[in-house]
Amino acid sequence: MEERRRMVVDLCVCPGCPSWVECGEEGGFCFPTIGRSSCIDEESGCICPSCPVTEKMNLNHDYYCTRGSEEEQSGM
Ligand code: SF4
Ligand code: SF4
Repeated sequence: MEERRRMVVDLCVCPGCPSWVECGEEGGFCFPTIGRSSCIDEESGCICPSCPVTEKMNLNHDYYCTRGSEEEQSGM
């Protein structure tokens, strides 16, 4: 689990996203043990569809920073 979390954070392109707010977070909001950002609350565009993690982990949502992890948005 920790290895997967590290992989997601390393590949995450959130810091280049127009919605990104710098507050010391690492991104990876799609990951179940990370989830929502504590500082991003405005949806100004989401680049998750272009992130390698989306394809790698078959993700079907976006705006994980404001709407919660893939699992949460899938109602799991
Ligand atoms: S899919 Fe989005 S939240 Fe998940 S790692 Fe990529 S850019 Fe970050
Ligand atoms: S989850 Fe999407 S909207 Fe939020 S910072 Fe990452 S790329 Fe941007």
